Amino acid sequence: MSEVTCNICSSTDHYPVKCPNMPIQCRCGAKGHVSDLLTGNWRWPKQGEGSRYVCPKCPIKLIIYPKEVKTCDYWAQARSDERISQGKEANINSHKTGCYGEYAVVKAYDCEWTGKFYEGQSWENRSWDTERGEVRATFSNHHNGMKLYPSDSYLDAPYIWVKLLRRGSNVKAELVGWVWLREGRKDKWWNEEGYWIVPREKLRLMETLPCTP
Ligand SMILES: [Zn+2]
Ligand SMILES: [Zn+2]
Repeated sequence: MSEVTCNICSSTDHYPVKCPNMPIQCRCGAKGHVSDLLTGNWRWPKQGEGSRYVCPKCPIKLIIYPKEVKTCDYWAQARSDERISQGKEANINSHKTGCYGEYAVVKAYDCEWTGKFYEGQSWENRSWDTERGEVRATFSNHHNGMKLYPSDSYLDAPYIWVKLLRRGSNVKAELVGWVWLREGRKDKWWNEEGYWIVPREKLRLMETLPCTP
């Protein structure tokens, strides 16, 4: 084999198409190299996230398409019906919001939607919302932080914050970050309205979300 000189880094060990020093750029403008995909926590984009590589500082953004929105709406209705059948109050919009957020995590990580309702499953006995953790979804958030409620009960679960935005018949989802429930319950983050607000900048990066414990 004849010797090749890489015109990106001048190495004679590889062809330019295999160059680990090939520059890449994130949508936020951050610059890295192909080698960062293996060693530096950069990642390939997830489905619905566009075509660019993503740096470790950027949240996961993806689109929930109309067909998927319909699936979420179906499960939201099922959850709502289940609560009503138990004589409890139900808010279909908050169930929809919850389902979009959970679905976004399921889609991003290709993991199991463990919180989904099906007939015969008791809502009280469900496990986490998703295999990767509990999900807190919001369409708007004037506090710019993740809310945790006293009723949140999975002390060993990662709580993932998903911000949602309607765009026509799509729902745009941003997986902002996550926190352990126990570390999110700091006195200084308590809000007199009855919940904690973990500031956005105090959340852990999605890249550090643990695998199913
Ligand atoms: Zn090279
Ligand atoms: Zn970035």
